Formats: sequence, C-alpha cells, structure tokens
Amino acid sequence: MHRFFISPQAIHDDRAILRGTLVHQIRDVLRMRPGDEIVLLDNTGAAYRAELVTIDRDTVRARIADKWKLETEPPVRVALYQGLLKGQKFDWVLQKGTEIGVSVFVPLLAERCIVGSLDDVSDARVERWDRIIVEAAEQAGRAVLPNLLPPTLFAHACDQTPANGLALIPHEGEKSRGLREAIANAPRAKAINLFIGPEGGFTEDEIALAKSKGVIPVSLGPRILRAETAGMVAVSAILYELGDLG
Ligand code: SAM
Repeated sequence: MHRFFISPQAIHDDRAILRGTLVHQIRDVLRMRPGDEIVLLDNTGAAYRAELVTIDRDTVRARIADKWKLETEPPVRVALYQGLLKGQKFDWVLQKGTEIGVSVFVPLLAERCIVGSLDDVSDARVERWDRIIVEAAEQAGRAVLPNLLPPTLFAHACDQTPANGLALIPHEGEKSRGLREAIANAPRAKAINLFIGPEGGFTEDEIALAKSKGVIPVSLGPRILRAETAGMVAVSAILYELGDLG
C-alpha cells in the first residue's frame, strides 16, 4: 500500500484532507480512485490506513479506517555528517541512509570537497534532497522523517558533540581503534554523530581538529571504502551493534 507523510493537522477525527503535491501524486501519478486505500504517516510515529473518498483538483479526502503506532525508528539517533560529494552520489547517500536508519543528515563542507563554499549549494539541490528523503522514508516505512540540516563547515560541525552520545570520525589512517570498540565504550549512547569524508578523505589537520573537540577517529577495517559506501557501512554497523538490525 502506498505510504505518504502528512502533517498531523491533516487528520480530523476519522477524516483526512490532503492538499498540495500529494494530490498530484495520488490523482495523476498513481491514478488512484475513490475506494483505494493508502497509509498516512503523521511524522509523530502514528500511521493511519485511509480509504480515498473524493479526489478533486486541489483536494483529496479520505476516511481513516485504522490507526497504529509505528515502531520503526532506531534506538540511537545517528547524525551523518557526510562530506559533500560529486554528481548524484550525495543523493544516493540520502536515499540509502534514510532506508537504513539515519536520523539526521548534515551536508559537510570539508577541505577536500569539490564544492568550494556553502553558497555553492543551491536551493534547488537542497529541495531535491528533501524530496529524496521523503520518498525514501515513505518507501521504508519510517515513523519519523530524517532531518536534513543546512550545509555546515567542518569546523562548526566538530563543535556539535551530541548530549548523551558520542562523535566518531572514520579515518582510513586510524589503525588502532575500530568502530566496534568505540561503540562498546559508550553502551548507553543515545546519539552518535558520524563524520564521513568526501572522495579525497579528511586532511590530517581536520583529523587533529576533530580530535581536539572530542571526536573519536575510528577504523572501518582494512579496505578503503568509497566515501558514499563508508557512511552506509558505518551506520549499518552501528545499528547492528546496538541491536537494531535483524
Ligand atoms: N583519501 C583516501 C585514500 O584514497 O586513501 C580515501 C578517502 S575515503 C574514499 C572517504 C572517507 O571514507 C574517509 O574520509 C573516511 O571517512 C571513510 N573511510 C573509507 N574507508 C575507511 C576505512 N577503511 N576506515 C575508516 N574510514 C574509512
């Protein structure tokens, strides 16, 4: 059944009123008809099975048939600080990261990013990123949409150590501390900030700065992973270690 995120205000008792791009998607793209059923997600953890009643030009009205609580959010909030990547690789990170269980995405401007300044990230690109996250979250049945924060400079990001959590920076130069060990040392962490470099990796100055702010360098194993692979591997390993996957 198709799932759609809506605002909680769209639900009134056993009725839902949908407007905006959802109408176009339901009517023109999916060509749904009155009587068809959809699942609505209100981004607070509630899901609703709803039967379409009327489909007009600007509005879709639906009747709520069932409501339940979704239990699909991970026990730890992983914030992925991903170095900005070339072409569509960043899109891929957002899509797969949303499916796997990232809670917050922060596009990171690091020294070796191809993008030169924060102003080079266009509004259109950020809007596309938002859409990718919503579609992936609907497909994956996330209870809560991952947050996309504004692009951030590496130095500022290092200051954002999470309360009740830890910050990790996978670095291929780290030979002694593995990801598992770092997680095992913080078993009650409720939030993990995870820094992944761009294609060229982090500079040694960036690693030194991160360390000085309490961000812990870790290894992801003996092979060098592509930047877009490294984040997905690290998030999967973190959630697996904390009992969220399988
Ligand atoms: N410049 C590096 C090189 O060519 O040797 C590669 C950087 S890698 C493509 C991009 C990012 O992925 C790194 O900054 C790091 O965060 C992460 N990464 C990839 N492989 C890793 C590994 N084996 N251990 C830790 N981090 C890794």
